[in-house]
Amino acid sequence: MPHSSAVADARLSVLDHIAEAAREAGRSPDDVTLVAVSKQQPDEKIDAMLAAGQTVYGENRVQEAMGRWIPRREGVELRLIGPLQTNKVREAVALFDVIETVDREKLAQALAREMARSDTSVRLYIQVNTGQEPQKAGVAPAEVDGFVAICRDLGLPVEGLMCIPPETEPAEPHFAMLADLAARNGLSKLSMGMSADYAAAVRLGATSVRVGSALFGARG
Ligand SMILES: *Cc1c(COP(=O)(O)O)cnc(C)c1O
Repeated sequence: MPHSSAVADARLSVLDHIAEAAREAGRSPDDVTLVAVSKQQPDEKIDAMLAAGQTVYGENRVQEAMGRWIPRREGVELRLIGPLQTNKVREAVALFDVIETVDREKLAQALAREMARSDTSVRLYIQVNTGQEPQKAGVAPAEVDGFVAICRDLGLPVEGLMCIPPETEPAEPHFAMLADLAARNGLSKLSMGMSADYAAAVRLGATSVRVGSALFGARG
């Protein structure tokens, strides 16, 4: 099984880097969750990663995630890290443990309704468009406080904030901004950092990092 050792080695290397960055920041490595982003990766690599002991995975499409994960759901924590349409809320609430991309009132209302209807609780993150990029999803930084309040009024279990910094800028100021916004809203979880910048994210307080290509190789 050529994939097995490659993904297991990559995982240990990423975990090492996370631990080193955490210690540099005076944090415990145990306070950072590695989310393995499995979107568009072949099943053999996913199975090798499961065999290596990785239990937390991120997917960006509901439909793709259902096909891949319904047969592998046991013992896995699954996170939605891509945009969610309101017409997919029922499937998303049924499949995912965590939805990291709550970014508008209509979606927040649909999630509240579906969680009540199905008596299911999914942990939620609000996505923040820290770079205010027009093509990118997420709540504008100035609207975060108000949107957190709306979600809380709906009774939603919001535990943190998530961001995807602009590709063309240093990520650190965006990570620092997300940490500030979370702190002032009493939110303890920060989903930030991808393959290129997860160590920086951990130094700035990430409680989870979403790593795809550094674990699995380039997407097919
Ligand atoms: C694809 C994706 C990632 C992982 O990206 P890599 O650069 O491959 O680590 C992380 N977060 C989100 C939201 C993604 O869509």
